[in-house]
Amino acid sequence: MLELVELRKSYGSLDVLRGVNLRVYPAELVCVIGPSGSGKSTMLRCCNRLEEPSDGQVVINGQDIMRSDVDVNQVRQNVGMVFQHFNLYPHLNVLGNITLALRQVQKKSKAEAETIAQEALAKVGLAHKASAFPSQLSGGQQQRVGIARGIALKPQVMLFDEPTSALDPELVDEVLQVMRALRDEGMTMLVVTHEMAFAHAAADRVIFMDGGVVAEAGTPAEIFENPQQERTRSFVGRYM
Ligand code: ADP
Ligand code: MG
Repeated sequence: MLELVELRKSYGSLDVLRGVNLRVYPAELVCVIGPSGSGKSTMLRCCNRLEEPSDGQVVINGQDIMRSDVDVNQVRQNVGMVFQHFNLYPHLNVLGNITLALRQVQKKSKAEAETIAQEALAKVGLAHKASAFPSQLSGGQQQRVGIARGIALKPQVMLFDEPTSALDPELVDEVLQVMRALRDEGMTMLVVTHEMAFAHAAADRVIFMDGGVVAEAGTPAEIFENPQQERTRSFVGRYM
């Protein structure tokens, strides 16, 4: 569903991605772990062209999205993204946040957009919060709205960049639960996370990034219980 081939990204003389190769198969949940600054966010942002790679391929469902004739708006509908800091519009209520792209990008009618938004809200357990404003919600609820906004566009892949890192510890689980439910429904997901217990329990595969490359990839058992590389061992050892 998602394939990165020799993906490179440099900022001036700083080589952030140095040839990332990675595949996510349909309905897989792949977790990306690794030290701060290893290029995880940059890699995710290349997957929906929030960032332009310097070289390499990003292939979504068979389509090379870096081709010049590809419509970036189309790509962003196919590849949903959930951010660490939710990025909700404070002046719009929950329904308004979710229907915005449905109406402006997908050109749906107000009624149709609201029906889809309500379905998405129900999936994240927030059907009763449609008319609330972001400031009236807890961080966990805001992030669940962020997820609802992503899935409302019916993307082929969902990307998550540390979706629980900005949350108080007691709010982390409700967001992880929603992500597990999505995965159980067959959503294809690439998740950058520091929640090692989640990666261990919920991921189909785990990718360890270090220094702008995939240093090691494997099943959760392989990465957490029997890492082959010294740097993986040292990183996961701090959490286990
Ligand atoms: P991670 O998400 O793994 O912490 P990032 O992808 O955010 O890593 O960043 C990797 C490296 O790229 C860091 O050294 C960071 O400072 C640098 N970087 C990220 N974005 C930019 C940018 N827009 N301009 C310059 N350097 C950047
Ligand atoms: Mg990051």
